[in-house]
Amino acid sequence: MYQEVHTDHIAARANAPEISQLLQRFEACARGPSGVSFEHFRDEVMPRFGDDLMVLTPTGDGDYAFSHYGREIIRYVGASRLRERVSAMTGQVAAFTITCCDRTLAEGRATYTVHRSLASVRVCLWERLLMPTTAADGSRHLIVFSRPLQFHEELLVAVLDTSPSGIVALRAFRDSAGQLDRLVVITANRQAAAMAGRADADLLDLDARLALPFLADPQVWQRCLFALDLRRPDRIETSWSADGRTVWLQIAVAPLGDGLVMTISDISELVVANQTLQSRAATLALEVSRERATRRALSEEMGYRDEREQELRRLAETDPLTALLNRRSFTEKAHRAIQASDDSGSDVSLIIIDIDHFKAVNDCHGHLAGDAVIRAFADLLLGQVRMERDLVGRFGGEEFAMLLPTANLEAALRVALRIQEALASRLLPVSETLALPITASLGVACRQRGETLPDLIARADKALYRAKHDGRSCIRLADPDLVIAA
Ligand code: GH3
Ligand code: MG
Ligand code: MG
Repeated sequence: MYQEVHTDHIAARANAPEISQLLQRFEACARGPSGVSFEHFRDEVMPRFGDDLMVLTPTGDGDYAFSHYGREIIRYVGASRLRERVSAMTGQVAAFTITCCDRTLAEGRATYTVHRSLASVRVCLWERLLMPTTAADGSRHLIVFSRPLQFHEELLVAVLDTSPSGIVALRAFRDSAGQLDRLVVITANRQAAAMAGRADADLLDLDARLALPFLADPQVWQRCLFALDLRRPDRIETSWSADGRTVWLQIAVAPLGDGLVMTISDISELVVANQTLQSRAATLALEVSRERATRRALSEEMGYRDEREQELRRLAETDPLTALLNRRSFTEKAHRAIQASDDSGSDVSLIIIDIDHFKAVNDCHGHLAGDAVIRAFADLLLGQVRMERDLVGRFGGEEFAMLLPTANLEAALRVALRIQEALASRLLPVSETLALPITASLGVACRQRGETLPDLIARADKALYRAKHDGRSCIRLADPDLVIAA
């Protein structure tokens, strides 16, 4: 139970002005030589304050009896307690009152108390001033001023006035058959009127559907009727528009008697903030997906460009007819291979191959047949080497070159012989119906220490020339002394 007990700053704490007046009189009497006389003080204060006073006299068994009970107090409590005992009051109030009386008598000082009302329906808090006195016969008596400090309805009015929510109480009006005729506003605070768009109007006694525009929404109205009929609280979100402005409301509906209480909160700012947030989120998601699409397109484009570059590089390096290395890329790669052989100290050999009497193929079978022979010849050459190391290129026309890293003259000669054997053992296909026997002359050279690629090619060419000169379809090894001679 809420309670306060004070013996200091009473005048400042008290709400009823009578308390400080009584206190002044009490203290004036107390300053006299024999303390506060019960009879004297009672006769002094009763005429003016009697309606708010009660007199409590100890019963000698730890209790007190009411020997006076003012009319105003009866009014609030609803009955007189005259001649009753304090212990007959509500348990906690009785205990609190007896404790305060004991203490006040023991200390001989006026005491100011506040406590929650447990018996009176209207009163929320009581304030009291307890003043100890002594009668002529030596008996002790407490003269107590008692007045409601706060009423429940005051509290309610304060809550209604200060609440940021709109609060409305509605009562059902029914016909003789008990069917709902209308809901009527019986209480509405200022906030409710403002939220209903009628800040200056008094909503009291109006039909709720006329007073509160959001009840025009059939769904909201239906849910209110459900809450009323089923005696079940509900929470509704709704909006209504006026003067181009949309107001969003959250309405807590609770049944009260044969009616409803509505607590209405304006959540427009919240809804607008939420909508802004949602639209920002949507914009962001759109930007993110656009960015992703751009990145995807970019990486596809980059991949496509890589492929194209590789393709272009491959095309630049290869001979279109045979797909062998062309002369330029063969020479570049051969340079690098020679450098690598210098670093590792290993051998490199070169074979130059020229088809014999190729002009006659063109002359007899046509240029296209000649192309087919060149292609088939290139395939045959590729079949004789280890592709990961060896380079095979078309030097031009029907002339080819092979660079064989790590091969000495002997190993290169073996490769040249394999080529001769392959040519001897098969016809080269020209078309579905035509295949031709083809021979070739080969010049083989093994790189000498410090020799440049052009010198190596020149020596292999000389050997090839000798092969042609010696009747073709044969292999000639390059003269090692040629470098020295050159
Ligand atoms: P040799 O035995 O002395 O090498 O005689 P050859 O006829 O093979 O040599 P020659 O240099 O006299 O003739 C080569 C011919 O190859 C001339 C040219 O028209 C032909 N030729 C060059 N490139 C191509 C080509 O790409 N396709 C075709 N079909 N013919 C080509
Ligand atoms: Mg030729
Ligand atoms: Mg030639």
